Amino acid sequence: MPGYDYQLFVIGAGSGGVRAARMAGERGVRVAIAENRYLGGTCVNVGCVPKKLFVYASSFRDDFTAARGYGWSIADPQFDWQRFIAHKNREINRLQDVYRDLLKNSGVQLISGRARLIDAHSVQVGERTYNCERILIATGGWPWIPDIPGKEWIVTSNEMFSLARLPKRLLIVGGGYIALEFAGIMQGLGVKTTLAYRGELLLRGFDHDVRTFVVQEMRKKGIDIRFNTQIIGIEKTDHGLLAHTGQDQSIAADLVLYATGRRPNTADLGLDTLGVALDDKGAVKIDDRYQTNIPSVYALGDVTDRFNLTPVATAEAMALVSLLYSGQSAPVDYDNIPTVVFSQPNIGTVGLTENEAKDRYPNIDIYKSEFTSMKHSLSGLDEKTLMKMVVERCSGKVLGIHMVGADAGEIIQGMAIAIRAGATKAVFDSTIGIHPTTAEEFVSMRNPSTD
Ligand code: FAD
Ligand code: NDP
Repeated sequence: MPGYDYQLFVIGAGSGGVRAARMAGERGVRVAIAENRYLGGTCVNVGCVPKKLFVYASSFRDDFTAARGYGWSIADPQFDWQRFIAHKNREINRLQDVYRDLLKNSGVQLISGRARLIDAHSVQVGERTYNCERILIATGGWPWIPDIPGKEWIVTSNEMFSLARLPKRLLIVGGGYIALEFAGIMQGLGVKTTLAYRGELLLRGFDHDVRTFVVQEMRKKGIDIRFNTQIIGIEKTDHGLLAHTGQDQSIAADLVLYATGRRPNTADLGLDTLGVALDDKGAVKIDDRYQTNIPSVYALGDVTDRFNLTPVATAEAMALVSLLYSGQSAPVDYDNIPTVVFSQPNIGTVGLTENEAKDRYPNIDIYKSEFTSMKHSLSGLDEKTLMKMVVERCSGKVLGIHMVGADAGEIIQGMAIAIRAGATKAVFDSTIGIHPTTAEEFVSMRNPSTD
């Protein structure tokens, strides 16, 4: 389009921004993307990818134990944090290069630096201002921590991925995804881990059985989980850190990680001057076409603070590009988004919880199974698996599937397809199981639970 430097200017080269820029570039659109920190954004650098590598690293502890039950002799395994971090960094650098190549091969101009909106069609990066037909805000989120005395001693998930050394004692504050994932990781790596949560039970919004079951399993691994514990301040002493609780008690640690949520990255972007509408947490408000109240400005991903997951950000990016440049409306379906907490054991969930289903349907049936998987008959590990199905009684439609156990992430992905296809319990029952697996339990649960 004459008069514009770019038809689309994307701010933020994370999961959503890169996907949108690439897809638009591949359609011949003149696109630029600005990034001020790291290519690939949160997921690649301080999120999904390094987190999963950390989970793998830590899960070897149980594998070494289990191996003994299967006849292996293993002499005192040792873990080298610095070596692992160097390997992790090498992999992240490789992925950043992949992202760089993908953008280049799609004809996208990568601009390094912090971008700011000047007006509805101009973005400034450093000394330069670019005229753009459309602007996409994909600036993601950032860890948020409450303002308490001693805040300067707290680290967030960002710092956990590049600690110089492992602490001996770690206190994690929070009861969501990041708190549970790091509790499993750090305990597995040999760090004495305490998790302090302000409420009664972790993972607000998840199925109640899942919440209680995962606490039981994490405690078995030695994680000290404390409920109704609010930290009111952190004090540095000669022996480490002391986190003071509202109950006149304190928890000693060498490192304190706060996993108390994330906030949208909307500060100092020029949004207030332009009058882009934000909600009370600073998230960009958009309509169902990802358009803000300023018609040339769009937003997607974590900066809109809806479903803060990578596959959602990339799905939104593809939907937006199809809408803008192919004239196709392929809206994202936000129902039944599967999600996994990579705690140890994993939690996988899709669809309605039991309580949500009870609120929406007059009659539901619950199918539930708690068991020891075959692996643990010889592993010497005391680990149980929970599987649960929520079914609408009249139609037999499966409304929700929940699992706590090894590989729940892998298993629930398939279950999400079944739910999306509208499978009934009868379809599950008539599916031949794969024996011997853990997943076959999902096609073998015959009788509704009576409790
Ligand atoms: P981001 O990936 O955050 O990208 C935003 C980019 O914008 C960043 O690179 C940032 O530097 C850049 N930026 C910001 N402001 C500017 C500016 N003014 N100018 C230029 N650039 C700017 N999701 C999953 O689905 N599975 C997981 O297992 C998972 N694990 C996670 C683990 C952790 C510890 C965390 C923190 C998150 C995890 N997530 C996971 C969530 C996932 O990382 C996010 O949902 C996803 O990265 C959001 O993508 P995005 O494009 O919206 O934002
Ligand atoms: P979450 O929103 O999942 O959890 C935040 C936790 O902090 C909650 O338990 C909350 O308690 C607690 N909290 C909030 N404010 C305070 C406070 N002032 N004092 C004490 N506790 C507080 O956020 P996370 O930081 O764990 O993760 C951010 C998001 O990133 C996730 O929601 C998810 O979307 C994404 N993510 C996804 C992952 C995955 O897909 N596997 C992994 C990691 C992150 P309460 O419930 O009582 O409000």
